[in-house]
Amino acid sequence: MQNITNQTEDYPLVSRSLEVPSSISESWKKILASAVRDPKELLHLLELPPSLLPEAQRACELFPLVVPQPYLSRIEIGNPKDPLLLQVLPLGLEEHSPDGYTADPLGEDEALISPGVLQKYHGRALLVTTGICAIHCRYCFRRHFPYADSPRGIEAWKESLDRLRADSTITEVLLSGGDPLSLSDPQLSSLLKEIASIDHVERLRIHTRLPTVIPQRVTEELLNSLTSSPLKTVVVVHVNHHREIDDSCREALFKLSKVTSALLNQTVLLKGINDSSIELKRLSERLLECSVLPYYLHQLDPVIGAAHFQVPVENGRAIIEDLEANLPGYLVPKYVQELPGKKSKTRL
Ligand code: SF4
Repeated sequence: MQNITNQTEDYPLVSRSLEVPSSISESWKKILASAVRDPKELLHLLELPPSLLPEAQRACELFPLVVPQPYLSRIEIGNPKDPLLLQVLPLGLEEHSPDGYTADPLGEDEALISPGVLQKYHGRALLVTTGICAIHCRYCFRRHFPYADSPRGIEAWKESLDRLRADSTITEVLLSGGDPLSLSDPQLSSLLKEIASIDHVERLRIHTRLPTVIPQRVTEELLNSLTSSPLKTVVVVHVNHHREIDDSCREALFKLSKVTSALLNQTVLLKGINDSSIELKRLSERLLECSVLPYYLHQLDPVIGAAHFQVPVENGRAIIEDLEANLPGYLVPKYVQELPGKKSKTRL
């Protein structure tokens, strides 16, 4: 913990507080719009040393800062090692990338079959509908993704949807990051209807971090859209640490579990954040309390700027062995790595 007495004097006064607006009085869009984007403000609000500012500002030029208030409110004040803070704090370490780290570690450029459509695996295709995320995770493998090249809006998605319509082998459509739940409820509802109108598509999968970082995103409209879709719908949330799940998040996840065919979680193995069996056991148990099952534990993808999060595979295997010895099988995630060009994820 830092001695906070004099630190805030180095920052201008800001009006923002760490209090989370209630779900009734403030919409998720307002919360998203008011997310912290200035590293000076982040350090001020969390009473962290001003000496962190120059490197944070440089790192933000590589990948901007975005931290919404509900997530911010779960970070311990004055603790520069807080596991939630470390996921979002821009550091000078991002400027150093060893050999083997690239801007496109999963070869997604090669997997692009049409504007905004990626196909990596048989029977499944991924639609990139937005570049917006409610939080910027510093380890994100898409931190350099050219989102500006992807179509936006229901009219612009027509070509992407036609591409899906033209391939009868595609039975599952994935919506992924940017965060598809950053689309408005009417946009999302129209998109789900368009996807459901494709005869050969049976399943919809939504990958999202929004229900965790802004639980208010789980609106009645969203729940209705999911309930009324004829598709089997799977939602995969993204939680790395049990402290990300507070009561409002648990409530949101529980509501989602009621309207989906499956509610799963994926976690990225991150140095100094969750690289111990104790932390991951607590995460699995917490997820179950919210009716979410652990799905994947991902080895970090070697993206430029994230090397400091890398955990050796042998450590990951030891963690999984420990989890297997201490948890029922359904609470142990599959430890995997995505390798470009492979027909499926690789088990480690
Ligand atoms: S929410 Fe997902 S896509 Fe967005 S920055 Fe985080 S990891 Fe990347």
